[in-house]
Amino acid sequence: MLSQELLDILACPSCKGAELQYDDQKDTLTCWNRHCPFCGMPVNESGTCQDSACGKPSTSFVALRYRVEDDIPIMIIYEAEKLPLAPAE
Ligand SMILES: [Zn+2]
Ligand SMILES: [Zn+2]
Repeated sequence: MLSQELLDILACPSCKGAELQYDDQKDTLTCWNRHCPFCGMPVNESGTCQDSACGKPSTSFVALRYRVEDDIPIMIIYEAEKLPLAPAE
């Protein structure tokens, strides 16, 4: 179980979003912002990956789900599970 103090300071290492959803049953933290489906980095308004090494345009994006092991959140982008997001309207 993560403390509220820790949850308050945690942010997504990709998009820096601080609105992480903590699931204390599954021990996961999920960032529901839009991330590149290829590399997990943030995308800009038009859906192009912000990472200079990737830079791919996309029309579908992913949320990133980080796991928590022994009360230590594993905030590593390439270790995060990529969850498909519903396309924007
Ligand atoms: Zn994020
Ligand atoms: Zn990318």
